[in-house]
Amino acid sequence: MSTFQAPKGTYDLLPPASATYLAVRDALAAPLKRSGYGYVETPGFENVELFARGVGESTDIVTKEMYAFETKGGDRLALRPEGTASVLRATLEANLHKAGNLPVKLWYSGSYYRYERPQKGRYRHFSQVGAEAIGAEDPALDAELIVLADQAYRSLGLRGFRILLNSLGDRECRPAYREALQGFLRGLDLDDETRRRIEINPLRVLDDKRRDVQRQLEGAPLLRDHLCDACRAYHDEVRALLTAQGVAFEDDPRLVRGLDYYTRTTFEFVHDGLGSQSAVGGGGRYDGLSEMIGGPALPSVGWALGVDRTVLALQAEGVTLELPPVTSVFAVPLGDEARRVLFAAVTELRRAGIAADLSYGGKGIKGAMRSADRSGARYTLVAGERDLEAGVAQLKDMESGEQEAVALDKIVDRLRTLLG
Ligand code: AMP
Repeated sequence: MSTFQAPKGTYDLLPPASATYLAVRDALAAPLKRSGYGYVETPGFENVELFARGVGESTDIVTKEMYAFETKGGDRLALRPEGTASVLRATLEANLHKAGNLPVKLWYSGSYYRYERPQKGRYRHFSQVGAEAIGAEDPALDAELIVLADQAYRSLGLRGFRILLNSLGDRECRPAYREALQGFLRGLDLDDETRRRIEINPLRVLDDKRRDVQRQLEGAPLLRDHLCDACRAYHDEVRALLTAQGVAFEDDPRLVRGLDYYTRTTFEFVHDGLGSQSAVGGGGRYDGLSEMIGGPALPSVGWALGVDRTVLALQAEGVTLELPPVTSVFAVPLGDEARRVLFAAVTELRRAGIAADLSYGGKGIKGAMRSADRSGARYTLVAGERDLEAGVAQLKDMESGEQEAVALDKIVDRLRTLLG
């Protein structure tokens, strides 16, 4: 062991488990790639103000969880705690929204950082796959994103998740609701910090997980009963589109989420096998965000799905992904000349798209065969001096135990046939 350990709240992804992680990431992105979303990659850090303004000054993410720092050059930066603000910033900076093809549809995948209290499913470094559809107000776009996330989870074999859906209203109807809620909340028995939150962002109080707070919130006014006609019609259309596609959801009038920029459609994917960190993904519409960071009005909608928690959800359901073998053919050279020959054979197999590996380090046959076993390869290719004299290598099927001599110049052909 070295003197060092991974920082608190982080963990290393190592083989073989890392293969599942990669497959999950690919599966979450796959539906986006066939739905018109293009790949975007932004820096791991941004001007801290982007998040303060975008995510919201009063959110936990900004006030408590951001890794903010000053560079030697005096810039105030922060490691990105989420993806939406950065993607929108990049879109505006490159004027993608002016290319005349709205919505701009983008997907991303990467690392995010929040200084949270670590526990199972909650880390300080985690991974998300996200999607943003920028510059269109259309209930079908909201529904599209929810359908795509549903497809992504289902393609992995996940079944124990639920979709929670709500509307947060817009600048028409939310202010009146906000006031009604504040009036209600001010009458409750709450601690000072929560009282302050009532004044800055009362909707967030609804999201308080403490039982004594939740108990007091039972009679709180619900935004559902305050939506303006336009927001109600929009929400009903999103719900109807989802229902028509057979995507089941639950109306959750208390769902507010931890970021300030959401308007109208808001949703969360929760998994019941994960304990308290039950959200595997979430998102919603953020019609005001562009203006909040200095851009034009660009109604948009997006989501982010947590890769770490999706992996945990698969474990909780006992789902094992069918992954292609890391190595299909493992070559065991006995002697220097055999190493040259099999090194060439392995290179050629790889060129042909067949996953192949070689025993390195001059191991004897026993040790090399142990490596072959551990590699999980279906076939081994063994060659010693006598084989080379005969111009062959011994190809062994590790499942059936059958062995055949294959001419050295026919190795790729033979394996291609065998592996289909
Ligand atoms: P949020 O932006 O908080 O809605 O996060 C979107 C998704 O990212 C969540 O549903 C989680 O799956 C995942 N996520 C957020 N924060 C963490 C964290 N600290 N550790 C692991 N996953 C996280």
